[in-house]
Amino acid sequence: MQVGFNAHKNVDNYSTERKNEIRSLEVSSEELGLTGKLDSIIKTDAGLEIIEYKATPIRKSPEITEAMRIQLALQQKCLEDSGYNVSKTSIFFTSHHRHVEVKLTKKDYAAAINAVRQTKKLISASSSPEPLEDDPRCDHCSHEGVCLPEERKLQPVAKRILVNDPDSKVVYLTTPGSYARVKQGQMIVVKDRKTLAKIPLETIQALELHGNINISGGLIRELLWRGLTILWCTGSGKLTGWAVSSYGPNGQTRTEQHIASYEGRLAFAREFIACKIANQATQLRRGGIDKKIINQLRTIQAHANVAERWQDVLGCEGDAAALYFKYWILLLKEPQRSCWKWHGRSGRPAKDALNAMFNYTYTLLLGDIVRAIIACGLDPHAGFLHSSGRNKPALALDLMEEFRAPIADSAVQTVVNNGEIKSSEFQYILDSVRMQNSARKTLIAAYERRIMTEIHHPIFGYSVTWRRAIEIQARQILGVLEGSQSRYKGIRIR
Ligand code: SF4
Repeated sequence: MQVGFNAHKNVDNYSTERKNEIRSLEVSSEELGLTGKLDSIIKTDAGLEIIEYKATPIRKSPEITEAMRIQLALQQKCLEDSGYNVSKTSIFFTSHHRHVEVKLTKKDYAAAINAVRQTKKLISASSSPEPLEDDPRCDHCSHEGVCLPEERKLQPVAKRILVNDPDSKVVYLTTPGSYARVKQGQMIVVKDRKTLAKIPLETIQALELHGNINISGGLIRELLWRGLTILWCTGSGKLTGWAVSSYGPNGQTRTEQHIASYEGRLAFAREFIACKIANQATQLRRGGIDKKIINQLRTIQAHANVAERWQDVLGCEGDAAALYFKYWILLLKEPQRSCWKWHGRSGRPAKDALNAMFNYTYTLLLGDIVRAIIACGLDPHAGFLHSSGRNKPALALDLMEEFRAPIADSAVQTVVNNGEIKSSEFQYILDSVRMQNSARKTLIAAYERRIMTEIHHPIFGYSVTWRRAIEIQARQILGVLEGSQSRYKGIRIR
């Protein structure tokens, strides 16, 4: 996406228009029921010349494809429907700096009309089309990372899925009183007239603001225009809200999600919790905890697998959590273990420093889950286990269950065992605990290290980062809801 974005940077900016040139023009054809945007039009004495910008990778030759011919034919049709004469159509390959004229034929116009007809049929269908099977076209398709044609079979996948924009990062702003704005394609963060950071916008995957941080309207607009999510959290790590672009995919499936959430889907609820308990058991086993405890957790997991009501699933979750957190403290090494108070999991407000860290990493994880769900076009609030009536992002909390132990709990365990955070970085006020900014920054860094760790995917067999694994799980939920996948299968670490 970023490559295409950069290639269009100039044509989307009216201020760089030259004489006789119109850029980024919206056009339509009433007859075809079509609207679109033209990159550039040159006014000549013979008529209008359409120029479409394309960002073909430099290693590929700048070839005119059938899709480009169809696009140009439809653009020409829109202009002609509005009474203009089109004298020339061409493609400008931005990476190669090559301009190629395209002479359209009757066959191209017929293919364009047919493409519109087929697209309308697809859009009005109630579910997405089945993915292609063992088709070489998938190897070159830019949608493969979201379509996941192989993963839907829930079997090992031979090849690794490449992530779009692998160098981009989630940016966290945590310095109280700082202000972020946009200037010349960069996000500039300042405090007391001192510049704290300059980050190119194309390297940002999402923005998270923790505590008292202000951002400019211009920056919000720019990030939303790029389709990036902005999340706001309190300084103590509570997700207060998010902003997303108004254009999102899968509107029809979102409606089906709401119906399914209202009716209930026990299979989802069982799998989320059975998987969560399985991962808690594995986490304790890896830390050398007594086998008897692990077996008890496995028994509760088996009950969750066959529970007949969602209330029973929640009951299993509670029983497992009580057992897991009772023994979790043994995962901490001495002498660190003796330095930290632990009375079990207390939720909010945190009763001790370890609980404060759990709360904080769960919020970081929730932010990632919310973004993954939104990217699929689903609603983070319509869930299958957590109640949608409690004004919490129920689906995000559902999906989060299987990732709590291996990502968030593991990050807390690491910072304590490595001595990266000291108990002196917490302040006890009446019955609750506050984390200092230094501890917060260390915890965010540890969480990022963990979520960007590559794992061997237990279902598909390839290497992925935890962050990408979350996205794939969100797409599995989408696949089940739209009917293109048979069931949801959680990630169980080994
Ligand atoms: S990856 Fe999906 S969208 Fe792309 S060609 Fe294959 S089935 Fe079609």
